[in-house]
Amino acid sequence: MKPRTNSFWKIIRVSILLLILLIVLINNWRDQNQNWNQPIVVMLHPINADGQPSTDQYIQHLRLSQFIEIKTYLEQQSANYRQPIFVMMKLGRTLNAKPPRVPEESSILKVMWWSLKFRFYAWQQRKSEDQHASVTLYLNYYDPQYINQLKHSTALEKGRIGSVNLFASKKQDPQNNIVLTHELLHAFGATDKYNLQTGQPIYPIGYAKPEQQPRYPQKQAELMAGKIPVSDDQNKMPESLKNTRINRLTAQEVGWLN
Ligand SMILES: [Zn+2]
Repeated sequence: MKPRTNSFWKIIRVSILLLILLIVLINNWRDQNQNWNQPIVVMLHPINADGQPSTDQYIQHLRLSQFIEIKTYLEQQSANYRQPIFVMMKLGRTLNAKPPRVPEESSILKVMWWSLKFRFYAWQQRKSEDQHASVTLYLNYYDPQYINQLKHSTALEKGRIGSVNLFASKKQDPQNNIVLTHELLHAFGATDKYNLQTGQPIYPIGYAKPEQQPRYPQKQAELMAGKIPVSDDQNKMPESLKNTRINRLTAQEVGWLN
């Protein structure tokens, strides 16, 4: 009897893995580069990630209007490089299930497994309102009263989904929009432009104005570097998207330049 049960479970396990693989393959095949001549629909799904009542309160008061800044920003920034684009922000329903946790160690297998789980999660959560989204971001909100540093956010270019950790606080809204837009651009293929160990923007690719003379003070951050370099080894957090810009390399990575 026993060997038979074992082989039964083995078949089930292999079938599930094959199913996930199939979903991934279909996703990858479907995702060509973003066509920027078409309207870009960005779907946002808030999630109460720490389970606090205060976070619930914050989520209930979220309005689409606070994300419109992102639309305006992308349309203005892209105009430096190409024909006009049209971005539409959508605030979707609040979800109960949290996206799978991003692995802390960067072992390739763990990251691959996580990315499969994340795509599976996105597939499970999909409803008709998500159908026309170009990108879907899951916004995990945490009350800053209980946590002072957020884990890293991540977005997948294949699948065009992102898991974004944000503070459930009005005061943090402008910086939340920076994080959100940064992740959004990852979903379109932009890469990080800061030193992963130190957080310092990389010269010249992580500078808003690398050619500026003298080099400091820089007034803005490059969006994919995330910080304003104030010297070769110091930086500060920009206060809002207004203190950031998208440089030529990032524009090229997302397909704004040919
Ligand atoms: Zn990043």
